[in-house]
Amino acid sequence: MSFHLARLSLQFGISSRTAATNSSNGYYYHLLFNPTKRKFTATAIPKAQKSSKEELLVVVGGGAAGVYGAIRAKTLAPNLDVLVIEKGMPLSKVKISGGGRCNVTNGHCSDNKILAEQYPRGHREFRGSFFDMHGPADTMSWFTDHGVALKIEEDGRVFPTSNSSSSVIDCLLSEAKHRGVSLQTKKVVSSASVGAGGKFLLKLEKRTVSFVENVKADYLLIASGSSQQGHCLAAQLGHSIVDPVPSLFTFKIADSGLAELSGVTFPKVEVKLKLENILRNTPHLTQVGPMLVTHWGLSGPVILRLSAWGARDLFSSGYKGTLMVDFVPDLHLEDMKSILNQHKHKYAKQKALNSWPLGFSLTKRFWKYIVDREGLIGDTLWASISNNSIVSIAHLLKHCAFEVTGKGQYKDEFVTAGGVPLSEISLNTMESKKCARLFFAGEVMFLTLRLFRFLFLFCERDSSNFCTEAHLSRS
Ligand SMILES: Cc1cc2nc3c(=O)[nH]c(=O)nc-3n(C[C@H](O)[C@H](O)[C@H](O)COP(=O)(O)OP(=O)(O)OC[C@H]3O[C@@H](n4cnc5c(N)ncnc54)[C@H](O)[C@@H]3O)c2cc1C
Repeated sequence: MSFHLARLSLQFGISSRTAATNSSNGYYYHLLFNPTKRKFTATAIPKAQKSSKEELLVVVGGGAAGVYGAIRAKTLAPNLDVLVIEKGMPLSKVKISGGGRCNVTNGHCSDNKILAEQYPRGHREFRGSFFDMHGPADTMSWFTDHGVALKIEEDGRVFPTSNSSSSVIDCLLSEAKHRGVSLQTKKVVSSASVGAGGKFLLKLEKRTVSFVENVKADYLLIASGSSQQGHCLAAQLGHSIVDPVPSLFTFKIADSGLAELSGVTFPKVEVKLKLENILRNTPHLTQVGPMLVTHWGLSGPVILRLSAWGARDLFSSGYKGTLMVDFVPDLHLEDMKSILNQHKHKYAKQKALNSWPLGFSLTKRFWKYIVDREGLIGDTLWASISNNSIVSIAHLLKHCAFEVTGKGQYKDEFVTAGGVPLSEISLNTMESKKCARLFFAGEVMFLTLRLFRFLFLFCERDSSNFCTEAHLSRS
């Protein structure tokens, strides 16, 4: 991120903090980031080259991406005027994030390739060096350096030790204030265009009263989240928009027997989604992980991940399809059959309902579901189970088909997949390829930050020319 801001300060012709303290020698110093050494070096330029006029960066949106981007801009280019316009309250989503605790990043993911793979939208683009300049460790350092003590939980999720998102909010707002970022709330940036002099002409309005203000900005950072208004601004400046569709949801399943299992969890299943209308092979529609049965269908990390990866395909299929679940992914079908046969011979006189191979790690409730689905009546003894039934039970455990009839909600979270396509943004600077000096950060872009929780990582990395980031799977 720092690299981008440093580049920005060059483009802006703004003196850095170093420059301010050394300007008496007739030179300004601009910071250059060396990605290999991950260090800044100062480059002297003659004072005469510096523009006498201060320049203005307007940030649309006071969410995590906008506020962090503003801080980074002011940190690396202190002479730049930075104004954040927020239509509601700043950082309101951060407040509710992570159940009010704010999961800032993942503390177990140090491999950038694996990190990139966590993005249902963006995994191809983020491969390579994208995360080199700002990874989860950098996010953690930034917060601890700024007084937010963090803890890593067993599953890798990182939270403030206070267990409160307020610690993160207070830190960001006080740092913004300390750096001299101006924040105006209850104002909407309602339109944007580029004027004859190349400046951005922005119209600001208040929602409740008739108030219109026109602002000219030298640089514009759109960090408006998934709001339609932000997409409109990007479109006004020449960008295309991928229509947002829901992402991160649970599956509704038409199966009354399954509903009786509500609350049962499976630590590891493999799920494969076959969608109506989608014939091509999509590897990401197969996922492995923990699953939870709910009273309306299926949930848990593996399902949420599937919903994020398959968001657009699911949308175009009307959320209808078949979910194949392998409840024992570590065993081959043939091994399953032989384990079931061995069990049959060993426990021939026991009722099938009350006895099942322990190696399968299945609960009694779920085993009853399988026995019912196979059509065995309650008193059936193992001895009387036919070979065909054994094969059929093995198939049920390895390839259990469920009819997906729709999507359910995941807690109170509503996440969409849509926005400015990454192909229209230079990922090494996060500057628009369509409009010079326009930058993007956070969820306004077509990527999925939510499920893979690296929001702040992204805040720093991508919005960083100003600066945003994202998420590791909640488990
Ligand atoms: C319930 C919930 C829990 C979550 N938990 C986590 C978590 O634990 N960890 C994690 O990393 N992520 C989490 N997320 C996701 C995370 O909140 C988002 O990825 C993140 O907020 C995106 O940041 P952003 O700045 O891009 O957008 P936003 O936070 O949506 O901010 C955009 C801001 O722009 C403003 N705005 C929009 N248009 C305009 C306009 N025209 N003029 C002025 N202002 C405008 C909006 O009012 C908004 O405040 C969670 C999300 C939800 C919904």
